[in-house]
Amino acid sequence: MTDTHLGGCACGAVRYRVLGNPVLGTVCHCRFCQRRLTSAFAVLVSFKEDAVETLQGEQSKVEYRSDESGRWLRMSFCPKCGTTISHTAEIRPGMRTIAGGTFDDPTWFPIDRHIWVQSKLPWVSIPPDVAAYAQGFVAPPS
Ligand SMILES: [Zn+2]
Ligand SMILES: [Zn+2]
Repeated sequence: MTDTHLGGCACGAVRYRVLGNPVLGTVCHCRFCQRRLTSAFAVLVSFKEDAVETLQGEQSKVEYRSDESGRWLRMSFCPKCGTTISHTAEIRPGMRTIAGGTFDDPTWFPIDRHIWVQSKLPWVSIPPDVAAYAQGFVAPPS
């Protein structure tokens, strides 16, 4: 039996579920994530795209192009409350990354790595047993 985990936006209009475990759990400290989520960092939980299913709610989309890499990111968010639900990225074809805070239980998935640590806020501490990278990340850990 495959594990199912549910989540949704702050107002409840958008609901989704994911099947199985994430491919990767990432905390991103880049300035783009800090700004777009108005937070200290982003909690990014990546799945194969076909493991993510929208149960209800229309989602708005906006495309960004990284000024660092020139590649696109397409964010999906609730048009009613503005909660970012997930994104796809040119660098990760076939994958959808869920905003970790939208899970009903935001503790169920592991964090494998921290990226863009060079712009980490000074009062955030990274556990010593988790991989940390000064910038972004090209190949997944093997
Ligand atoms: Zn909403
Ligand atoms: Zn980021």
